[in-house]
Amino acid sequence: MESILLLLFGFGLLGAFYWTTRVKNPPTSTETSSSVEPAQETEILPLGQRRAIPESIHQIPRHALDDNAMRVVYRLLDAGYEGYLVGGCVRDLLAGKNPKDFDVATSATPEQAEPLFNRARLIGRRFKLVHVRFGREVIEVATFRAAHDSEQNSGEHGRQAASGMILRDNVYGNIEDDALRRDFSINALYYNVSDHSILDFANGYPDLLAKRIRIIGDASERYREDPVRMLRAARFAAKLDFEIEESTAAPIHQLAPLIGKVAPARMFDEVLKLLQTGHGVATLRQLVRFDMFKYLLPGADRMLNSEIYAVEALVNNALRNTDRRLSQGKNVNPAFLFAAMLWYPLVERMEKLAKRSELPPLQRLHEAANQVLAEQIKATAIPRRFSTMIREIWELQHRLPRKDRADQIMENPRFRAGYDLLLLREESGEDLGGLGAWWTDYQRGAKPRMHSEPRAEERQDERKRPPRRRRRRSSAPRQGSDS
Ligand code: ATP
Ligand code: MG
Repeated sequence: MESILLLLFGFGLLGAFYWTTRVKNPPTSTETSSSVEPAQETEILPLGQRRAIPESIHQIPRHALDDNAMRVVYRLLDAGYEGYLVGGCVRDLLAGKNPKDFDVATSATPEQAEPLFNRARLIGRRFKLVHVRFGREVIEVATFRAAHDSEQNSGEHGRQAASGMILRDNVYGNIEDDALRRDFSINALYYNVSDHSILDFANGYPDLLAKRIRIIGDASERYREDPVRMLRAARFAAKLDFEIEESTAAPIHQLAPLIGKVAPARMFDEVLKLLQTGHGVATLRQLVRFDMFKYLLPGADRMLNSEIYAVEALVNNALRNTDRRLSQGKNVNPAFLFAAMLWYPLVERMEKLAKRSELPPLQRLHEAANQVLAEQIKATAIPRRFSTMIREIWELQHRLPRKDRADQIMENPRFRAGYDLLLLREESGEDLGGLGAWWTDYQRGAKPRMHSEPRAEERQDERKRPPRRRRRRSSAPRQGSDS
């Protein structure tokens, strides 16, 4: 028994030594032998020409590298494959931001990579990958891809529609091929864990230093292959506060209608990445600039410049609220954002229905909700659990004026979200006779004010105070509450 324990202890020590020397040690002069001339850092090289930026120049601190992603890369290297950290994580580390996740690129095919890890899973059909799980963290391992040539396009690995859209992307290649099929130069940087240098084949490093978003290759062709890249350009410009380079921006206006052909399920995921990752207000500005918002929320986009409804104010306030909550580490709920952004399209439909039919108000709301959501799901899918929540939040707007049923209304699992939308509507200029303040008081247990609108700054203060403690029926994610 003792000898087994000793053996285990020995292995542990060895492992720790291996880890500290291999991963965390500062560079030595020999490790940076692939160094570049300093002048070359900003020089634009022919596409595909390799450049290595040594650690002494890029200066990404080693402690910022994700331990699990490093484990994955070392496992691949030990098995004789190539492996690099790639994409958004390298870009964000260079830009001084916290990476959302760490991705790995490798020469191993998904089928070769999967058995190397204990908790790995093959996923995807259109784009096959391996997900390696460490607790709640997932490291995405993608095999080097190559551009499709005409022979492979008709094969089982790659498929491209007549429009140029890539339908299947499982044509494998080497690291240079992989770099050039990525979307933007700043997303095509590879962190080499063996010498801690960064490999660049597409001028990503000079573009990053110049705060420039540049598509790799011919912009029109790349957008035709995958129209989501146009949305991604807007997203990275907003997130990083970078400029979209001229020839990258130029075809967007003309080609944006192709976004309408992207599968609604993928579009739902994109909307969340665009509007619910902490830069929603800035992203909306970019989307409007390129006239792309209409492919996400056609109903809201049509009314953005309405003189009757405060659509622009409400959409911006909802996004500002979401950005703020994310910056404070609070959770956000897609249903709340959709309910807010589609509130005035709903109101407009209800008013049209009122002119045409005798439906009672609640039924009118249900019918209008059906119509608004039917239009929306053509653009972006909305998983049922969220569409149900959106309807409940809207229905609460109808119920919240019933002060005589306040206690019953507060039992509603969506009460908090409904109340938050009410506050946002008032903040955006709707006159509801001080209903928001009434509910704020009521929740605090204070005697509610009747028909008196508090000053804006007074309401801000009130929202900071904790609401009166109440038993809740649901622990569903809450939006907009400061609790
Ligand atoms: P973030 O994770 O911060 O949203 P990201 O750049 O990491 O940004 P991911 O969607 O995680 O974005 O993709 C990882 C990498 O895969 C990208 O950096 C890019 O190199 C490549 N990539 C992703 N989507 C596309 C695409 N549509 N076309 C070409 N390359 C893509
Ligand atoms: Mg990523």
